[in-house]
Amino acid sequence: MHFGVLGSGIIGLTSALELQKEFPTAQVSIIADRFNEDTVSYVAAGIFRPGTSFMGPTKGITQQWMTDAFNYWDEIRRSKESALAGVCQLSGYIYSRTTPSVVRNHFIEQLLPVYRRATEEELKLCEGGWKYGSFFTTCLTESRLFLPYATEKFLKNGGQVVRQHVSNFFDVPKDFDVLLNCTGMGAKELCNDQQLVPLRGQVLKVRAPWIKTAFYGDLDTYILPGFETVTIGGCRQYDSYNTEWCKYDSMSIKERCYNMLPSLKKAEIVRECVGLRPHRAVVRVEPELITNPSGRRLKIVHNYGHGGYGVTTAPGTAKYAVKVVRDMLAGNSKL
Ligand SMILES: Cc1cc2nc3c(=O)[nH]c(=O)nc-3n(C[C@H](O)[C@H](O)[C@H](O)COP(=O)(O)OP(=O)(O)OC[C@H]3O[C@@H](n4cnc5c(N)ncnc54)[C@H](O)[C@@H]3O)c2cc1C
Repeated sequence: MHFGVLGSGIIGLTSALELQKEFPTAQVSIIADRFNEDTVSYVAAGIFRPGTSFMGPTKGITQQWMTDAFNYWDEIRRSKESALAGVCQLSGYIYSRTTPSVVRNHFIEQLLPVYRRATEEELKLCEGGWKYGSFFTTCLTESRLFLPYATEKFLKNGGQVVRQHVSNFFDVPKDFDVLLNCTGMGAKELCNDQQLVPLRGQVLKVRAPWIKTAFYGDLDTYILPGFETVTIGGCRQYDSYNTEWCKYDSMSIKERCYNMLPSLKKAEIVRECVGLRPHRAVVRVEPELITNPSGRRLKIVHNYGHGGYGVTTAPGTAKYAVKVVRDMLAGNSKL
């Protein structure tokens, strides 16, 4: 067996590791044109907190993705690998001035070790006049550490990495038994997928080691402490392809976050980053059999469209995608 994985972001790497785990004698190759700091995955703060509109093929499958993903991250967090892999525990608050449903989350209220209503005192922990709030304890995966960690693990397991841009699935360097398509926004061109839309995001990574708690406010405002820096953000610009850093977004982010926690004004800005979240109303994890004009056939399992929650859900969709691979090889998929 020889599997190909197109894409080396968080989705491609977790899928490749899952293939190696489930098919230990198979060869697995990753093909990608961007790695580590050049991927969208690198920009993410990496908090495990799915949006409530995140959707897989069914409600049951989506909840299973959440459970599998949380268990995967939490197992790394408990292990001796956690510092190397960039996985830690993080607690924090989500607040709203206007909408009580914003602070609820059906995916994780039962899954996380702690998810509860914030007390009146806790609503005053930072500026904003917050009316509704929840406190929760979750995981954070810092891609800056996890992507190289996962790549090294993949190579140690005998995997191969090829740097190549692919403009058509039949461009891939080998005749793979199955090709996993984990190309994020790249799938827009490769699959001619009109349902895949960029949700542009911009964040600042600042040095503020005194901040140990996560805070979310209204209007996409968040303060998320990581291993070395705190990610402050953000914005969500629908259908924007602008990968340039925007000074107006940066001013707005600073104003909103500084209002919440004034001590951030003293924090050194380490990096400003932009990423296009690959948003799809229904995340696409499904098989497809494609044939080119000369009759060559290729089995593909798609795994893309995770929007703003790719770090959260990657191990869950990877596990599901590899099950789809197994079904496809056994002739059990509905193709
Ligand atoms: C500002 C911001 C903050 C975020 N914060 C969080 C967060 O806190 N928690 C969370 O869960 N998620 C967060 N996200 C979302 C998360 O980053 C994405 O969902 C995730 O990175 C998507 O991963 P991916 O592997 O699909 O895409 P990518 O990381 O973009 O990887 C795509 C891969 O495919 C390859 N590729 C694409 N097209 C081709 C081609 N034609 N040929 C060859 N290779 C190709 C690329 O080279 C790359 O290796 C955030 C995103 C942004 C922008």
